[in-house]
Amino acid sequence: MLLTISSTLPPATDLGYLLHKSPFRPHVFELPFGSAHVFYPEATHERCTVALLLEVDPVALVRDRRGPSGEGRALEQYVNDRPYVASSFMSVAIARVLGAALSGRSRERPALAEQPLPLTARLSVLPCRGGEGFLRRLFEPLGYTVSTARHSLDETVPEWGDSRYFTVVLEGQKRLSELLGHLYVLIPVLDDDKHYWVTEDEVDKLLRHGEGWLAAHPERDAITRRYLRHQRSLAREALARLVSEETEASEEREATRNEEEAVLEQRISLDEQRREAVVAALKQGGVTRVVDMGCGEGKLLKALLKERQFTELIGMDVSIRSLELAKDRLDLERLPDLQRQRIKLLHGSLMYRDKRLAGFDAATVVEVIEHLDSPRLAAFERVLFEWARPGMVVLTTPNAEFNVRFEGLPAGRFRHKDHRFEWTRAEFESWGRGVAGRFGYGVRFAPVGVVDAAVGAPTQMAVFSR
Ligand code: SAH
Repeated sequence: MLLTISSTLPPATDLGYLLHKSPFRPHVFELPFGSAHVFYPEATHERCTVALLLEVDPVALVRDRRGPSGEGRALEQYVNDRPYVASSFMSVAIARVLGAALSGRSRERPALAEQPLPLTARLSVLPCRGGEGFLRRLFEPLGYTVSTARHSLDETVPEWGDSRYFTVVLEGQKRLSELLGHLYVLIPVLDDDKHYWVTEDEVDKLLRHGEGWLAAHPERDAITRRYLRHQRSLAREALARLVSEETEASEEREATRNEEEAVLEQRISLDEQRREAVVAALKQGGVTRVVDMGCGEGKLLKALLKERQFTELIGMDVSIRSLELAKDRLDLERLPDLQRQRIKLLHGSLMYRDKRLAGFDAATVVEVIEHLDSPRLAAFERVLFEWARPGMVVLTTPNAEFNVRFEGLPAGRFRHKDHRFEWTRAEFESWGRGVAGRFGYGVRFAPVGVVDAAVGAPTQMAVFSR
């Protein structure tokens, strides 16, 4: 079983420093289930490839077998796919042989270890239970370009059809430790057949190697269940810890929000103009059932509640604190029954497919997407446009070109610390048209706030409809 990783950032042979393994000689390591070889099929200034070759010894596997031993599986113990495919053995090898790189430590090149590099990983044979679709749903939200080639069960007997084995190539701008962490967790998830008995420490390992990406991954639940080998109580524990991790992170970010952005934008009371523009678009669309995604403290919901046209309103946010503020702002406890029935607040995330959000007339996403980094943005696009699939989407985001008009905002800075990007009009429109095209919506764009002849309006709005 072979895993290769290539870097094309010159001097590419610095990859050797990150892996703590010289590119100029081969290395061998003995592991409980066989041996691991590390060598570099190419090592030039422009491109360097490291190979991790795993020789799994099926006899050693049987000798070492722990957990329920499965009598009557005698032959299967010796004759199986384990030596030839990427499985949890590969993850163990990554941790044992490339442990320093996995944890992002590099004595000689600490800055390079922190830097996203143009990396390509290739797994010669990866078993994928759940097929290519699941494989893509695991890696694409993390920002990889995925290419696959599926193997037939037997090339000489085509009528047997396809196997569950794929050759997989992943390309992305990633820190080496990130790439290794993704592989460490997701290879056994795809294989779904862990070789060792899963115990409590596996929860810690999963959370450690999943740090920074698993909590918000759209397939988080499936990953957790499979990684913990479908042991429900462990999976429940892991999920509870992941959910609180995401909620806390988001609350921390939001706590520092507001003041800065609000002060900047206040002079023109942009907040209010934005709400008016969104309400007007919804009214024009003739919709009655609206979900406000990333509703924050509920200002838009409050405005919508005043309009009789809207008979059912849902506010959804990942931050519990924001939802509590929204509850106060809307005075939910004291609303008369009839009003109370029109509105509901939900704790949820834009990253996950959520039945509760499906089938609405309209969704609003106001000043939210700029908080999502690009893998999350890609996940969000599917959650909203493919799964929730409202008839209409009204979405706003800052117009980066306008930032030069904000006094007190240094050039090149975003309006808010937590913004991952702020788009120019051209960037927003190109994203919007791409999404509309991919998911079968039409789209129009409108400025919000006073339009400046040179740089446009402070906020930009897109209205998608089916
Ligand atoms: N729409 C509101 C709030 C904008 S601030 C307004 O215009 O005032 C961005 C909001 O998005 C925050 O409340 C934040 O908690 C929420 N948010 C960020 N990431 C999210 C996610 N993954 N799922 C749901 N909400 C999210």
